[in-house]
Amino acid sequence: MQGYIYILHLDSKLSHARHYVGWAKNPLARIAHHKNGSGARFTQVCNEQGIGYTPSLIVAGDRTEERRIKNTHNVKRYCPHCMGENVRDTLGENLLHEFYPNECSENDIRITDNL
Ligand SMILES: [Zn+2]
Repeated sequence: MQGYIYILHLDSKLSHARHYVGWAKNPLARIAHHKNGSGARFTQVCNEQGIGYTPSLIVAGDRTEERRIKNTHNVKRYCPHCMGENVRDTLGENLLHEFYPNECSENDIRITDNL
């Protein structure tokens, strides 16, 4: 199914986690749900504890790729916010060409159906 993997980079750690990885057909709508408390339990706890988070990467991909990233237990290597330019060396080729710039926010991410 056509969709997007997204990484939320947390301002500070929640337990040992610094990132949330999700998948959605419309990632901006999904991120808005996280922010208003109707998303995943993980981001609800972030909201409750006042831990902010920013989308650092949105790439076209399927749920298999989302799972692959989650299973690395090393999400930061996919996170441009953490890795800066080095992320280019660590992403798989199919993610590389959809790479988004550093430090984007919901307001300056632009997504279209034919991304
Ligand atoms: Zn990060």
